Amino acid sequence: MIDVEALVVGAGFAGLGAAAHLRRRGRDVLVLERGAALGGTWRDNTYPGCECDIHPALYSYSSAPQATWARGRATQPEILAHLHAFAAENGLDDRIVYRTAAAACRWDESTGRWHVRTDHGPAYAARFLVLATGALNVPQIPRLDGSFGGPAFHTARWDHDARLTGRRVGVIGTGASAAQVIPHLADVADHLTLFQRTPAWVLPRRAQRLPLPHRARRTVEYWRGEALVPALTGSGRRLARLEYRALRHLHRQVPDPDLRRVLTPPHRIGCKRILFSDSYYPALVRDSSTVVTSPIAKLHPHGVRTADGRDHAVDVLVYATGFRVSAALAGLPVVGRDGCTLLERWGRDGASAHLGTTVAGFPNAFLLGGPNTGIGHTSLLFMIESQLRYVAAAMDAADREGAALEVRAAAQREFADEMRRRSSGTVWTSGCRSWYLDRGEVNRSLWPASSWGYRLRTRRFDRENYITAGPAQRT
Ligand code: NAP
Repeated sequence: MIDVEALVVGAGFAGLGAAAHLRRRGRDVLVLERGAALGGTWRDNTYPGCECDIHPALYSYSSAPQATWARGRATQPEILAHLHAFAAENGLDDRIVYRTAAAACRWDESTGRWHVRTDHGPAYAARFLVLATGALNVPQIPRLDGSFGGPAFHTARWDHDARLTGRRVGVIGTGASAAQVIPHLADVADHLTLFQRTPAWVLPRRAQRLPLPHRARRTVEYWRGEALVPALTGSGRRLARLEYRALRHLHRQVPDPDLRRVLTPPHRIGCKRILFSDSYYPALVRDSSTVVTSPIAKLHPHGVRTADGRDHAVDVLVYATGFRVSAALAGLPVVGRDGCTLLERWGRDGASAHLGTTVAGFPNAFLLGGPNTGIGHTSLLFMIESQLRYVAAAMDAADREGAALEVRAAAQREFADEMRRRSSGTVWTSGCRSWYLDRGEVNRSLWPASSWGYRLRTRRFDRENYITAGPAQRT
């Protein structure tokens, strides 16, 4: 068994950020990555048009500002290249073990170490375990009756060999992935058919009239994003103003009133993730595009039959149907102090973690992007960066105490109760179906407040909410 101080699982944005942050603080870090390359979601999502719709000035860690994006866009290839450069600059290249999946993590009380078995290769013993496996990495493909005969694939598993030019392409879904890929498909396809279950709210991308230096742009865009929070968390009047902006965008881009009706969402803006796009509606108003609203009844070898009995011929079918958030950790049993896995615990009590980061019974283990740390109105990197500071401070506290630290069950419960309380009355729980909510319609994904509030909340390690676990440890 190889001994390592901090073992990070996952080499996406969060895992790389953790490894860099902890190494800078002098810790010995190793990253396990099941894929053959780093990049996480930005490695896996290679669909045409894939980019970050959050302002690019916000889409890098503050320690590694990416000034060249400040005025342009952050496309998937650019973001992936940035992550490679980030890894190299932070000396991570030889700290990542590729093609090696963590197969099971088990807390060993006698040694105060996490024992991590891998799918092949050696096992590891780590004082600290950082799970940076991401929430949106298991594609959700709806189970539909019948079968389709042509190429069919999910946006996160793009088939680059499938010919699209001059073909009839069907897309299922109207989320952020669909909104990005559809304009590109509409450009090349002979015909594009969008199977829409729920229309999305779309806001125009923010125009940048004033050229600003990167840091100033980052600050401006950050606070513009935060300015959305009062509307999302409460005020109906503010929401109505946002809806007005979105409807004006729809009116400007879609002249046909019938199509406008079809594209007008029934839910309040922000209940599902708001889309930011100037090219989605123009792709749908083309003569060569059709928006189908009748639910899908079944697939057949040459297309899709809808509930109204109509057949829609397609040659290629794209599932822009999102991800199974609850399955994100399904392949990785993380066994805590009482022999229970994290998923068993969450299956019983619902997914929760104190500050979205630590779970009772799982000493010295940290989740990045855990329950209630997702965010839709600003950059997720701001949340991850807040978490990284908190995690580093927790590790420092464990060093000082010479013991493993475990969050108190009561603190975790109180935090979960607080998340429930703060989510009620927000737009996210106003009655639509979204990946933010679990089966019981409880928000277990989003931080239901401002990201600045989360930064303040995590700025100090709250030692009083932790107990010690395992044997005394030499650091
Ligand atoms: P998503 O937001 O979960 O959207 C899935 C879509 O598939 C929804 O429109 C859903 O319809 C539809 N759908 C699912 N099953 C269906 C079925 N059986 N029949 C018809 N429609 C079905 O997924 P996503 O677009 O991949 O985005 C997921 C998240 O990834 C986003 O919320 C965002 O956080 C992130 N993302 C970010 C960016 C970015 O630029 N920053 C880009 C892409 C993705 P309903 O709405 O009716 O459920």
